[in-house]
Amino acid sequence: MPDDLGSSVTSLIRLVHGVGRTADILYVGAHPDDEDSALIAMLARGDFARVVCWSATRGEGGQNRVTSYSGPELGVYRTWESVQAREIDGGESWFGPFYDDDYSKSGAETLEKWGRDHLVGEIVRAIRAAQPQIVISAWRGDHTDGHGHHTAVGIAVHEAFVDTTVDPRYCSACAWARGRGTQTGLA
Ligand SMILES: [Zn+2]
Repeated sequence: MPDDLGSSVTSLIRLVHGVGRTADILYVGAHPDDEDSALIAMLARGDFARVVCWSATRGEGGQNRVTSYSGPELGVYRTWESVQAREIDGGESWFGPFYDDDYSKSGAETLEKWGRDHLVGEIVRAIRAAQPQIVISAWRGDHTDGHGHHTAVGIAVHEAFVDTTVDPRYCSACAWARGRGTQTGLA
């Protein structure tokens, strides 16, 4: 279905059902392809939720079998790919400031390189900007994540979601979360 037509149909369904935005959801990953597009489509197109997909990096160090780009150029290409994907599944693409320097063997290594507080702080910033009721982490934050960037983001998103509501270092950034008190889950 062409995107314009898809958007029109979605708008018409919302009008008929009297449904506006049902929820705000933040989906947190390390790379532009960490998200589950089927889940985003179900939430955004099916349940009329606003789904913001935040990626710590733009995937500069990822595998690329489609183009000859690498490094920063690949990051630009994958940013474009991600935005295109969101036009299909109905989400939004946001990006953190971290550089994907290819494979990292552990979460600890990535947290040291990126800075643990910096990573947690950027996810807090995304939480505050998106104001989600639900935060979904693409990663668990342990060895099963299979890549140091994944593990680091999995650890940091838990800290951003849980600890920053009481950590005075993040007071200004978590004002919304504490004020609204409507965050309901970390999947
Ligand atoms: Zn990844």
